Amino acid sequence: MTPALSAAENEVADLCVELIRADSSNYGDGSGPGERAAAEVVMARLAEVGIEGTYIESAPGRGNVITRVEGSDSSLPALLVHGHLDVVPANAADWSVDPFAGELRDGYIWGRGAVDMKDMDAMMLALLRQLKREGRKPRRDIVFAWVADEEAGGVYGAKYLTANHPELFEGVTEAISEVGGYSLEVDPSLRLYLIETAQKGLSWLKLIADGTAGHGSMLNSDNAVTELAKAVARIGEHDWPLTYTATVRQFLTEVADAFGIPFDENDPQPILDKIGPLVRFVGATLRHTTNPTQLDAGYKANVIPGQATAVVDGRFLPGFEDDFFKTVDSLLGPKVRREFIHHDIALETTFDGALVESMIAALKAEDPTARAIPYCMSGGTDNKTFFADLGVRGFGFVPLRLPADMDFASMFHGVDERVPVEALQFGVRVLDRLLLNY
Ligand SMILES: [Zn+2]
Repeated sequence: MTPALSAAENEVADLCVELIRADSSNYGDGSGPGERAAAEVVMARLAEVGIEGTYIESAPGRGNVITRVEGSDSSLPALLVHGHLDVVPANAADWSVDPFAGELRDGYIWGRGAVDMKDMDAMMLALLRQLKREGRKPRRDIVFAWVADEEAGGVYGAKYLTANHPELFEGVTEAISEVGGYSLEVDPSLRLYLIETAQKGLSWLKLIADGTAGHGSMLNSDNAVTELAKAVARIGEHDWPLTYTATVRQFLTEVADAFGIPFDENDPQPILDKIGPLVRFVGATLRHTTNPTQLDAGYKANVIPGQATAVVDGRFLPGFEDDFFKTVDSLLGPKVRREFIHHDIALETTFDGALVESMIAALKAEDPTARAIPYCMSGGTDNKTFFADLGVRGFGFVPLRLPADMDFASMFHGVDERVPVEALQFGVRVLDRLLLNY
């Protein structure tokens, strides 16, 4: 007999649909609708069960909601559970459904944000409502935060809140949020759950070459365009060596073990082949990367400009930042200098401790075939923003048990983004165990 669904399992899909319908597309230039409508859904659903959320607008329409659930043991540090309310825009013409209708079809909820990350927003909301209705208390304080602007750097969300309202996060030492906790099926008796414990750092570099300006018909041995082009080619073509952080080494060892293949440090490709489309998340975490993305120089065919510039998107591994810049500088050469357009940190935490043990136990209780493994992601999330400002140890943990054939990675910012309703219900059960017992 199938056990009856809990209240949270019952309503999590409806809440997810409601949040998807509240279009919160973030164009990154302030032209979008903002997160107010989505934040109002959260506020209203909290109010319905007697929870007074704190609504904070960082700018008109940029809504954030925070609420703290008091734990039974005030000596324990608090846990932050956060989700962003904004989504990346969707071009409806490319989709099979209206991306903002939240359509239910074939057991899936379709729509922008279904996995990034109104799924988690809805799970948080469903759980909180259930806790309140049942009058249960977690052991430690749990701060629930639904925030704005993650997709454009968190300026109106996590950054704003940590800078202007740090008191809301008092006592918080750890956090869970996107992108991790999803399953990769090895065979029917073993599912790996990838928990994100590390993120690469980001460095957008402006390269500047100064030379001698002059007429295009004359001899010129100090041409800024030539010098810049050489540096850009060196950096773009650089074959960054395989560099294993502790997290990536552990990840590859675990995957190799699960699939029964050896881990050859000189050729990890057979392991990466085993994880299928998820390679999108981790493929770039075995080395630094530097991709030239913009070029700018000159204004006329016969005028040699005095300066030429380029932009490089650099991503460095946690713990190897010095190594990264040392190599970048050697590739620039003596005639090209660099400036930061944007620079943030890399993160890496260890896969141990009570929170990790609790995540593993909660997964195993709901899926006996579960084996949790840590991984590093090549992109960044709000965990970085919170971590940097508040010293919070962050994990990517949105538990979802996925069908073996689902291409989950392509859902993020993808066309026809969708999430299985059963995966949401699974997630609610796992989070319920985690938040109550930890
Ligand atoms: Zn996201």
